[in-house]
Amino acid sequence: MSEADCIFCKIVAGKIPSRKVYEDEEMLAFHDINPVAPVHFMIIPKKHVDSLASATDADAAVLGRILARAGRLAREQGSPEGFRTIINTGRIGRQDVYHLHIHIIGGPDPLPRMIAKS
Ligand code: 5GP
Ligand code: ZN
Repeated sequence: MSEADCIFCKIVAGKIPSRKVYEDEEMLAFHDINPVAPVHFMIIPKKHVDSLASATDADAAVLGRILARAGRLAREQGSPEGFRTIINTGRIGRQDVYHLHIHIIGGPDPLPRMIAKS
């Protein structure tokens, strides 16, 4: 996926609207359009990186800062007692949008267990 076709790059550029949670020079947080829990937003690096599988040392600083901000944003969004972070990666991880994003999922009540055992 090239950056020109990337939905999340378009959201960063303001060409596609989003419900913003937080923004600074290097990251953007916005609500998921199809939330799976009362709190569900994503934090992305503004710089296009396809997926966690293609992240390099050059991306380490922003990814660290994204994680370091997650708790504060989750609390502000109504998930004060914890949350789940999910990064779907590649075909096996069922990634749909190929711009690295960290899902922050939570709410007032506990979430279901992570992966149901069958
Ligand atoms: P993935 O499966 O790649 O981890 O997750 C992609 C997520 O992006 C999905 O949860 C989906 O609902 C969300 N999404 C897809 N398109 C848009 C969009 O245009 N705007 C917003 N806010 N979320 C989107
Ligand atoms: Zn992108």
